[in-house]
Order: sequence, then C-alpha cells, then structure tokens
Amino acid sequence: MALIVQKFGGSSVANLERVQHVAKIITDTYRAGNDVVVVLSAQGKTTDHLIAMAKEYNPRASKRELDQLLTIGEQQSVALCAMVIEGMGYPVISLNAWQVGFKTNRVYGDARIKRIDTERLQAELDSHKIVIFTGFQGINRYDDVTTLGRGGSDTSAVALAAVLHADKCQIFTDVDGVYTADPNKVDGARKIDEITYDEMLEMATLGAKVLHNRSVEMAKRYNVNLEVLSSFTGNPGTIVKEVVKPMENSHVSGVAKDKNIARLALVGLKNEPGVAFKVFSLLARNNVNVDVILQSIGRGDEKDISFTVARSDTELCKQLLDERRESLGFEDISINDHIAKVSIVGAGMIGNPGVAAAMFEALYAAGININMISTSEIKVSVLVDEADADRAVQVVHDKFFRDFGRS
Ligand code: ASP
Ligand code: MG
Repeated sequence: MALIVQKFGGSSVANLERVQHVAKIITDTYRAGNDVVVVLSAQGKTTDHLIAMAKEYNPRASKRELDQLLTIGEQQSVALCAMVIEGMGYPVISLNAWQVGFKTNRVYGDARIKRIDTERLQAELDSHKIVIFTGFQGINRYDDVTTLGRGGSDTSAVALAAVLHADKCQIFTDVDGVYTADPNKVDGARKIDEITYDEMLEMATLGAKVLHNRSVEMAKRYNVNLEVLSSFTGNPGTIVKEVVKPMENSHVSGVAKDKNIARLALVGLKNEPGVAFKVFSLLARNNVNVDVILQSIGRGDEKDISFTVARSDTELCKQLLDERRESLGFEDISINDHIAKVSIVGAGMIGNPGVAAAMFEALYAAGININMISTSEIKVSVLVDEADADRAVQVVHDKFFRDFGRS
C-alpha cells in the first residue's frame, strides 16, 4: 500500500462533470489499496473572478482581506468534490488549512509554508478516509488565512507529500506533461518523459508555466517523487526527479521563451570599483530582481552596464537610477522593452561542448541577431528582438529536436 498525493488544477475541477471525472481518478486510486490525499485548486477561473470582484469593491483592498476572499475558491472546490465522492459511497473528508494546521509566515498573498501539523491528516488516513485538502492556503500566527501566491496549490501538494513522506505526488493538469517547447506554438514540440528538478526549475522560471516554481524547489529539497500528467487524457505524464537516464542524442531538454523582460543599459559609468555594487544593491533594496547582466570592458575612465528586469519593473528602475545619476556618475540610461529571452535548458549540456554554438548557429542561419547572452551549467539564454522571438524558439527547437529527441 502506498500513500499518494494527487493535485488537480482549476480546469480539472471546473464543473460538475469534471469533478465527477476527477472523483473517479481519486476513487480508482483508493480502491487499488492506496491512501489518498487530494489537493484541489479553485474551480475554473474562480480565483480570477474573485480578484476582479475585489477590484470592483475596492481597487486598493488590503492583502489580508484579499486572502480572506480568495481562499473561498479552494474551500468551495474541496467541499463539492467531497460531496461527489460521498455520493459514490466512499469514506471521505474535506479539510482546510485551519483544520490541518497548515502554518505559513505572515506575508499575505505570497506566504511561505513554515510547518504542517500532520496529526489530523494522519488520523483521517488511519480511519481510511480519502482526504481532500484546500490548496493555495495556509494560516499564519495571527490565525488569519494566507495564500501562497498564484498557482500555489502545486506547492501545497508537494509540501503535504513531503511531510507525509508520500510515495508519489501527482500533479494533474490540462496538458499531458512538460513539453520540449510550447506545443501550441512550436511545431514538433513533444512531451518529455523524464526531467531533472534543476531542469524543471529552469523551465518554470523561463515561463513554461506547468508547475509553480516553489513546488519544484520543495520537491528537490525533500526529494519528492513528482509526476505531471493530464486529468483529461489518462496518458503517462512527465516524471520530475533528481537524476534522469542520459538521453541519446539531445543534450537539450527544452526551449523556453520569456517576453516579460526589459533591458536597461547604463552608459558612461565611472570605471572605478564599487559601481556595480552601488547599482545592483540599490535595485535589490527596492526588490527588483535582476536577471542577465553584462558589463563592457572599460574604455579609459568609462564603462557600460546593461541588465534585464521584469518588464513591470522598468519604470521603477529608471526612476531609481535617474535619481542617483550624479552619485553613480553615468551619462545616459537606455531602455528596450521590445526584447525577449530565448533559452535552451538541459542537464546534458554539462561536459558537452558545442551546445551553445549549435544554438547560435541556428539563430545565425535564420538571420536573427543576438543582443545579449548568458549561460549557466544547464542553460543558455539569449536576448533577441521580441518580433523574432517565436521564430527563434522554432529554429532552435528544430536544431535540437527535429531528427532526434527525448521521446
Ligand atoms: N487558485 C489559485 C490560483 O488560481 C491557486 C492555484 O490554482 O494553484 O492561483
Ligand atoms: Mg497551476
């Protein structure tokens, strides 16, 4: 007998029919002799609707009251799902964060999990009940409800799998798993059978939004056996784990694109120690996340630094830097928010030279200019014009996956 955590996303529980379908998956797993803990998202677009509603009532509503509202969504779906399973004649109980003791820090809207009391959960499992738990929510030290950030139910599920030492954590969604590129946009994109935690983290950060980032970090930290699969098709999904078998020909697992970025360039900075420190500590103090950084070789007493940030931070950055133009001593800021980042990810790059060059070759052959490059052990990212981004993903994907691949 195994303990299995199953998480179902909003589209998987969108209406009665979908909930009945999910209830069948859950009870089949239970009937096969497993303990089952289920984590649900809010039905369909419920969370979006609640957010829209809050905006209407007060565009500046406090995060505490927002959380108070948003947690309704998950509460609704667990109760309804439990009712359906009751109706099928199985022992079942729905529980929310408060009842389980799912403790977080006090940050409303983006809370981090601190501790989960497993006592109640364990007692319900011991009495052979199927447990249906509200994803996305916790309680803080003031006994207020908190939420874990959009998409946070994945993280709730992995956290439960970790504390309960579950044998498996299955994340059911509306796609068959993780793909080598966005299957809706890229010709020849295919499902990946196995991917490492690190690759998955990179893919998630790069905008392949199948899993909540923090859920992958947590799965890696606690070595949770993770599977992403479709609640619609019943096909085998993608397994996410520490090490995967070395794949034949492709050293690359996937190609991802991020359009939500802007590049800022500081021109004519003083060529002296401490300049980079001053610039980036200023941004860090203001919670701006900086991604790719490029510093030019100084010319005499001047140098340039360019870097990318999330597009929504562009104005803030410009303002912060402009205010300190004198003390930082630069001549000009230039901003380009019509760029995109295209990246290849693959644990197989380690120790295999030539992967980056193959990517650059594909872009060159397509006449696509590269603005900036950054690399890590398992990733190569380039900045290209936004207008070229989709074509760039396609030609790079063709380069690595046309004739061979992982599946
Ligand atoms: N319902 C929440 C959201 O839409 C949490 C989740 O679905 O994971 O963000
Ligand atoms: Mg999700």
